Amino acid sequence: MGSVSLLSAAGRRLEGKVALITGGASGIGECTARLFSKHGAKVVIADIQDDLGHSVCKELQANSTSAFVHCDVTKERDIENAVNMTVSKYGKLDIMFNNAGIIGVSKSNLLDIEKSEFEQVINVNLVGPFLGTKHAARVMIPARQGSIISTASVCSTIGGVASHAYTSSKHGVVGLMRNSAVELGKFGIRVNSVSPYVVATPMARNFFKLDDDGVHGVYSNLKGKFLEAEDVADAVLYLGSDESKYVSGHNLLVDGGFTIVNSGFC
Ligand code: NAD
Repeated sequence: MGSVSLLSAAGRRLEGKVALITGGASGIGECTARLFSKHGAKVVIADIQDDLGHSVCKELQANSTSAFVHCDVTKERDIENAVNMTVSKYGKLDIMFNNAGIIGVSKSNLLDIEKSEFEQVINVNLVGPFLGTKHAARVMIPARQGSIISTASVCSTIGGVASHAYTSSKHGVVGLMRNSAVELGKFGIRVNSVSPYVVATPMARNFFKLDDDGVHGVYSNLKGKFLEAEDVADAVLYLGSDESKYVSGHNLLVDGGFTIVNSGFC
């Protein structure tokens, strides 16, 4: 069954919902914005890449209403503004997707890493989701509903796959998600994270500087495959929709079993 027939069979799963997606101009965020829009959500894309963000936004208009807002997730004023803009334009915020992230420098030895390099990754990957969760909660609490999703990574559960900074940031994202799920549950707000394995986005392609076969060679556990952004967007769609109404405090691994393979002996 193709994606169009699947869509008509399942219906538009986010009809009437309003979503804000950070890092929505590229990769996983962009793909999720397209999928959300196909499913009837009004989507606000927040990113530092203005031209890309505007052009994605223009394409989304074919399915539903969409807007772009310049937002650096490390700046509280920008996040606050993105949330306020979403609510003033569309009346509410149902789904906050804290997705913007960077991989940072690739130095693997503790002694070589500058404090500023470590802080840069933590700022985007962890402080960003903190600010996004905080300001989404600010408007979701009075509404007594909402779904907050943050992009973590397989590096949220195992060590040694990426840099110290990246691994620390993604473990932090899951810690933040768990604490927020406990605190916000009583207001009807669900908080979850999604943890992908290597996804074929500009981030992974630039970082590995390898062709597709090269990536396969490094990470062979998926039997010669790595993920497409659509594989992650499908998981985010589930967490954003009412189909997951009793799912909260969950770190949803989208890794083809990579972490389970790498945490065992066989
Ligand atoms: P990407 O580079 O294609 O997209 C990231 C987006 O975030 C870009 O549009 C970029 O402009 C934006 N961004 C970066 N810094 C920002 C900031 N300070 N403020 C606002 N926007 C900012 O990468 P991607 O692979 O789609 O990454 C999305 C998320 O997925 C990240 O959190 C990343 O850590 C995570 N992730 C990626 C992979 C992978 O293999 N690609 C695997 C696991 C997790």
